[in-house]
Amino acid sequence: MTEASQLNDGRRDIERAIAELAARLPEPLAPVARVVYNYRWLWAHGSRSAISSISPSNWHQSRCKHYLIQSFPQAQIRALAGQSQFVARLQAAAEAIDADLRRPWAQTGIPPEHPVAYLCAEYGVHCSLPIYAGGLGVLAGDTLKAASDLAIPMVGVGLLYREGYMHQRIDETGWQQEYWTDVDFDRLPVVLVTGPDERPLTVEVLVRHRSVKVQIWRVDIGRIPLYLLDTDREDNHPIDRWITSRLYIGDRHTRLAQYLVLGLGGVRALAAMGIEPSLVHLNEGHGALSILERVRVRMAAGASVEEALAAVRQETVFTTHTPVTAGNEGYTQEEMEPVLGDFADRLGIARATFYGLGRVNPTNEQEPITLTALALRTSRVANGVSRRHGAVAREMWHPLWPERSVEGVPIGHVTNGVHTLTWMAGPMQALLDRNLDPDWRSRLCDAGLWQRIADIPDGDLWAARNALRARLIDYARERSMYDRLGSRGDRPDYVESAAAALDPTVLTIGFARRVANYKRLYLLGRLPEDGLMRLLADGPRPVQIILAGKAHPQDKEAKETIRRRFELRRDAQVARRMVFLEDYDLHMAPRVMAGVDVWLNLPRPPLEASGTSGMKIALNGGLNVSVLDGWWAEAYDGQNGWAIETPTGDPYQQDEHDARALLDLLEGEVVPLFYERDADGIPRRWLQRIKISMARLIPSFNAERMVRDYLERVYSTRPRT
Ligand SMILES: *Cc1c(COP(=O)(O)O)cnc(C)c1O
Repeated sequence: MTEASQLNDGRRDIERAIAELAARLPEPLAPVARVVYNYRWLWAHGSRSAISSISPSNWHQSRCKHYLIQSFPQAQIRALAGQSQFVARLQAAAEAIDADLRRPWAQTGIPPEHPVAYLCAEYGVHCSLPIYAGGLGVLAGDTLKAASDLAIPMVGVGLLYREGYMHQRIDETGWQQEYWTDVDFDRLPVVLVTGPDERPLTVEVLVRHRSVKVQIWRVDIGRIPLYLLDTDREDNHPIDRWITSRLYIGDRHTRLAQYLVLGLGGVRALAAMGIEPSLVHLNEGHGALSILERVRVRMAAGASVEEALAAVRQETVFTTHTPVTAGNEGYTQEEMEPVLGDFADRLGIARATFYGLGRVNPTNEQEPITLTALALRTSRVANGVSRRHGAVAREMWHPLWPERSVEGVPIGHVTNGVHTLTWMAGPMQALLDRNLDPDWRSRLCDAGLWQRIADIPDGDLWAARNALRARLIDYARERSMYDRLGSRGDRPDYVESAAAALDPTVLTIGFARRVANYKRLYLLGRLPEDGLMRLLADGPRPVQIILAGKAHPQDKEAKETIRRRFELRRDAQVARRMVFLEDYDLHMAPRVMAGVDVWLNLPRPPLEASGTSGMKIALNGGLNVSVLDGWWAEAYDGQNGWAIETPTGDPYQQDEHDARALLDLLEGEVVPLFYERDADGIPRRWLQRIKISMARLIPSFNAERMVRDYLERVYSTRPRT
């Protein structure tokens, strides 16, 4: 980066926003401004609780919508400024964060002036920034956080969705309704990047033969800037302003326009800011059109098509997340041409060659064009997201390399991981502070350190687990009351009954994730011999279940699954022991994942590429009961949780088998083990299993290990000249 261009990367704009906020706060609270303008506070020791203690009621009720402190009443701000303890905590947090950000970049072979550009359609960093739908986005957010921790030069590029992702409401018939709300970006630590003239920096992208102006927002995730592109400007045509309105917008033509803005706009935005990446990491194919723009730039500088493609390939790596061919969105040439316009012609590439890049068989003009095929063909290295998914992807994409054996298909794997300090709840971190070496936060991949979990006194671990479960029950009751009252207008007695639902001492099973058919939430209703009712019945060993998850708006089958579960609530016993929480998101997920004892995962193999929620469970001391697929196929070792081995073959028979296996496992092993107590009321063997699960899973399935793997196995295999 040159001196002059450095001014354009948005840092100055962040500094200005901090200064403006600080000027509006009473002097002792000035450090708040620094802290809130970087999401680093989320995982800095002590600052998460300091920031969320600013206004617990505001924070929870608004579910993160009022993020910045200026939205709190003046009286409250004045009161806070007078609380010396709070001010001291905040000061300490601000200093710790500053010290972290001042560390030098790691010596990794990636020069800080040529960072890795990470392109993804969604990012899940925190609930206040609703530009994620689920696992893919949260993984991207966790990746940026870990890159910051490891001081690896990286910049994120995505889109700023004015209405974020859809919200879910369940109506009185049990049917999912979707709605969208405007995100108030003024209250978020997101700032518009300006140019030397102090006006918003823009780049132009030709979409459907119209020039669209794209502006750039910056948000800091630790030391990693995340740039978000936005077409909602007054000088754009109303249709074009709509392009970046909603994540995974229903209309496929607008979605394609989003991919164009992300791909072409992303490359141009980086150039406009003076950022020259040494490598582009496409996280899923949505940003793959960036390849074409980079080819164009090389050709404009004199390279031939072949030279440009070869050079761009050397600087591109690709991670695929989709284990079924049908999951890779395809477009016909007729659909792509109006959106891309004369891009191919301007490159001087024959259209057949151009569109052939996105086809498995480049000469088959009937074949739809997919971003995945484009990305695979034009990247130096590609990987799946678990060992098993790597193998599935090699088989699936074998037709792209017909001359090779399946094993020889150049797709490897880097197993996903989760950002430990984001996902581990406060009480569990406090337990580790008391029992592990004080520097455990900086030794997350040190398996030796995690062995020490075995020495934690059972009573302390059990107390932490009980506290986390109790917190979840409180949260679930409150949410469920709010759902009944707020969105369905249920009868008052029914609304109030939510306050008595669930029990903080009962074995709590969680199943919260996207409600897609392959995740098989419906299996719970197919347990043989009325198994679900038996589990939920009163008795010496009761079970309760917390469910959550959104169905895709067009997925009627998944909505029907939700409706069926919902229907069961008419039975008072079921209503007491099983709740469905609406609008699953990053506000709810950490609370649910920290509090449940058992996490159910029932995907139909091999459709779970990796899955990450089970990792978040493990680091909070929950146990996994999962089908052997995705990450669990390589993580399960016979002692660190439970597994269901799905037979291959007919889906109906798989369901029958797995429903039976699940019930047998729960009734035969899981439930009895949880309720097996010694004279002190402590479930010794249950805690033993938790310790094994934590000690073996945490050091391997975390985002730091994942980013190190990317560095060693993907980024630095670069034979660059
Ligand atoms: C971790 C996470 C996911 C991923 O869940 P899987 O079931 O493992 O795919 C999805 N949504 C949210 C909000 C998450 O935090």
